[in-house]
Amino acid sequence: MLEQPKAQVMIAGAGPVGLLTALVLAQRGVSCVVLEAEPSLTLDLRAGTFHPPTLEMLNRVGVADAMMTLGIQVSRWQSCDLEHGRVAEWDLSLLKNDTPYPFRLHLEQHRLTPLLMDKLKSFPHVQVLFNHRFESLTQNPNDVTVRIATPDGPVTWTTPWLVAADGGRSQVRKSAEIEFAGYTWPERYSVISTTYDFGQLGYTENAYISDPEQWVALFKMPDVGPPGLWRMTLPVGQDVPDDMAMAGPYAQHTIRRVTGASADVMYPLVHQSIYSVHQRVAVNLRKHRVLLAGDAAHVNNPLGGFGLNSGIHDAISLGDMLAEVIQEGVDDNLLDLYHRQRHTVNMEYVQQLSVKNKKNLEEKDPELRMQRIRELQETCADPVKARVFLLNSSMINSIARANAIL
Ligand SMILES: Cc1cc2nc3c(=O)[nH]c(=O)nc-3n(C[C@H](O)[C@H](O)[C@H](O)COP(=O)(O)OP(=O)(O)OC[C@H]3O[C@@H](n4cnc5c(N)ncnc54)[C@H](O)[C@@H]3O)c2cc1C
Repeated sequence: MLEQPKAQVMIAGAGPVGLLTALVLAQRGVSCVVLEAEPSLTLDLRAGTFHPPTLEMLNRVGVADAMMTLGIQVSRWQSCDLEHGRVAEWDLSLLKNDTPYPFRLHLEQHRLTPLLMDKLKSFPHVQVLFNHRFESLTQNPNDVTVRIATPDGPVTWTTPWLVAADGGRSQVRKSAEIEFAGYTWPERYSVISTTYDFGQLGYTENAYISDPEQWVALFKMPDVGPPGLWRMTLPVGQDVPDDMAMAGPYAQHTIRRVTGASADVMYPLVHQSIYSVHQRVAVNLRKHRVLLAGDAAHVNNPLGGFGLNSGIHDAISLGDMLAEVIQEGVDDNLLDLYHRQRHTVNMEYVQQLSVKNKKNLEEKDPELRMQRIRELQETCADPVKARVFLLNSSMINSIARANAIL
């Protein structure tokens, strides 16, 4: 039987949110053990945009400089329309008095997790256990008993505090019987990556292209070689089966819709995937001694790049509050504040804005579509209004809102 690690906090999931929560706790002297179901860090081609307040937080734990050397700093991004072309180009330097990072950083999340792992190695009071899958839990007033599948068979360990950072399908959340309220969109989203350089068509490294039939979100990601990797995210209608959406001809057709090239032009394809999209938030981010963070607590469509960013905001907030409870003897009702702050801003901000972004990009009514285009042009042309718009889209307002909740 494996001996239980001595730790004040157990964290399920060594994704970006679990590792960051462990790092915040470790830096404040709290011991923790992280359980990861997979044999190593996962190579996720998912989140790739880091907003200014997130970079400020990652700087606090000491990984932002390394991220800067790996990522692409995007100081301008565009709102476009497939028919009407460029609508607005947003200049993030308007935020230069609001943040030391007036840009978005493009970097795949699988490049962040090794940086966090490296930092954790210098803390002997942290253990990351791979091939350890959380299975189920029971709680009493003093601790949580957790059943874990390990390569040596199942074990049962106890922990004073359990953090669920085990992703959208969180087994911890299910086992704690916390409702994941919300809905799933009928369409799926496809991700297509190519080395074709959309910059030659005048697109900035991040551009959202509205279209009533099939909008596209464009991101340039760092990769080997100067063109980098251009990633497109787009909706796939219910009438298109998965295997057709995952086939090369579908990707070629989709890229040609953006470039306007003729049917004989072929583009280099590097990666294709398809996934379901949800808008869901756990009704409570705390159930006694179990706390939810990241995708285990909330999921949303990727338009605006809020998913991982809000998970990182959770990790910092939760790590700080748990450390105060454990190290400084602060009453544990502080953790109810964690729920109030993070649940509120997820509902009011992440859910609302990601849904609004989606609706705007797919607007089918020509009059409403033109009205939206005019509004974006007017906002962008006025630096005061543009700054207000960017404070929201860059998540700076969401942090201020969370901090105002007592
Ligand atoms: C295509 C796509 C694009 C996206 N783009 C963006 C973006 O640009 N910006 C943004 O902010 N967000 C984006 N997101 C969202 C982002 O990827 C997620 O919000 C982020 O991965 C959440 O991190 P996490 O650590 O909470 O969960 P995960 O990254 O899912 O990590 C969970 C970890 O827990 C492990 N695990 C699972 N079950 C168990 C178990 N039972 N026991 C132990 N371990 C377990 C998993 O193996 C994994 O390592 C995107 C998502 C997708 C799908």
